[in-house]
Amino acid sequence: MQSMWDKVLDELRVRVGERNFETWLRPVRVREEKRDAIVLEVPNAFFREWLERHFRSDIEEVLGKISGRKARLRWVVGGATEDENPLRRGPLPSRAETPGSSRKPVLGRLVPGYTFATFVVGESNQAAHGAAVEVARDPGKKYNPLFVWGGVGLGKTHLINALGAEFLERSRNGRLGCLSAEDFVNEMIASIRNDQMNEFRDRYRKLDVLILDDVQFLAGKDRTQEEFFHTFNALQRDGRQVVLTSDKPPSEIAGLEQKLRSRFQGGLIAEIHPPTFEMKVSILIKKAEARGVALPGEVAAYLAEHAGETVRELEGALNNLLATAEFCGASLGLDLARKVVPEKRGEPGAVSLRTILSRVASEFRVTVADLRSHRRNRTLNHARQVAMYLCREWAHLPYARIGEEFGGRDHSTVMHAVRAIERRRGADPATASLLSRLEGGLPKRAEKKSERLRSFRERGGTGVG
Ligand code: ADP
Ligand code: MG
Repeated sequence: MQSMWDKVLDELRVRVGERNFETWLRPVRVREEKRDAIVLEVPNAFFREWLERHFRSDIEEVLGKISGRKARLRWVVGGATEDENPLRRGPLPSRAETPGSSRKPVLGRLVPGYTFATFVVGESNQAAHGAAVEVARDPGKKYNPLFVWGGVGLGKTHLINALGAEFLERSRNGRLGCLSAEDFVNEMIASIRNDQMNEFRDRYRKLDVLILDDVQFLAGKDRTQEEFFHTFNALQRDGRQVVLTSDKPPSEIAGLEQKLRSRFQGGLIAEIHPPTFEMKVSILIKKAEARGVALPGEVAAYLAEHAGETVRELEGALNNLLATAEFCGASLGLDLARKVVPEKRGEPGAVSLRTILSRVASEFRVTVADLRSHRRNRTLNHARQVAMYLCREWAHLPYARIGEEFGGRDHSTVMHAVRAIERRRGADPATASLLSRLEGGLPKRAEKKSERLRSFRERGGTGVG
């Protein structure tokens, strides 16, 4: 087998060049070869991501040519060779800080390095983080189930893995299950097929903590929902902990049975919001540190501003930057960052949503998360309407997009808010002076939407930073 892989490597070396080859392909090992699939072992998740993105098609093509058949490519991440990663110049804090890795979940698995120690806490996730810590220390008590939801790439999977690792570390022989809802479904289907449903139920009902990631996947799968409903009840009856994540709150998962929905709503629901600018900067610095790289503050700030709104996007940009620095032997500065991550092209004259939110938040002495939330009181309602008005006028965003940014509100709500503030601005001197003060603090290049040419094309999603 190895000899065939050697042939593949010979050809790949020519294709990708010496430098790429030594860095990325040399450390790859063949773990398994089946008729229709080849399993390659890579040193770590970063490697896998990189190979997947840049070399997968080359590998598949050469493999197909040499073996004469089409094989599916799969990766496994092996811990043993982790130190070979050339980008990793320092110690590995994430692994070193995972003593829980000595004990494993009895069902599913934990991602190494996804711990509380490596999780940056801030305004956007502190509620979810606090609850997760509490649950890890004292499962089955206060928040049961704990339901964490938020958009893709905002840290749900990281957080629940951290919870699981912490739980294993703290309990002497606690039994943990941590898996995706998709794996749960597949395992159940296999158990039905093999007539092993009793074993399946036993396995799940013996757990002290069950963590199920991405439960929106259960939508529309009635049989699985039924089975999970019983598992859930059995666990709760015995005071066991259930932790769930989803990309939507329970109320918005279509195709979810009412009885399951109300179970999901029976504990604590914690939302994770997109990170604030400050959090983005610390996440980037921390992620770089984990690779033994000291990321200059101005580079972190540049990436935070231009590389996207989710942590996953930021990480992708950081990976690119570090790898490029490595390949080109370039220094890790602003110039390189500008080349790797192009400056975000906002609409000319548009102010970023972030700027508006933070200005309004500090004016009203509330947090940005408050503004985006559904919490209601007089101050917040007013602050939120002002923020929506400014987003419309100064960030040039469509109503629907503004609604999304404010906790998924309807476009008509936003329209109503904008009109209300417009009216008050004309009728109430206090509102007028408040708005002038806020607008006076916006960047100089800013232009007000209502004063711009009509012909301006309205494009959703641009100019947001
Ligand atoms: P989700 O499950 O919500 O889609 P993930 O947990 O997979 O998101 O997070 C995407 C990436 O971002 C992961 O590499 C994760 O480590 C990182 N990440 C997200 N939030 C944080 C945070 N607060 N601190 C550090 N890393 C984070
Ligand atoms: Mg996830």
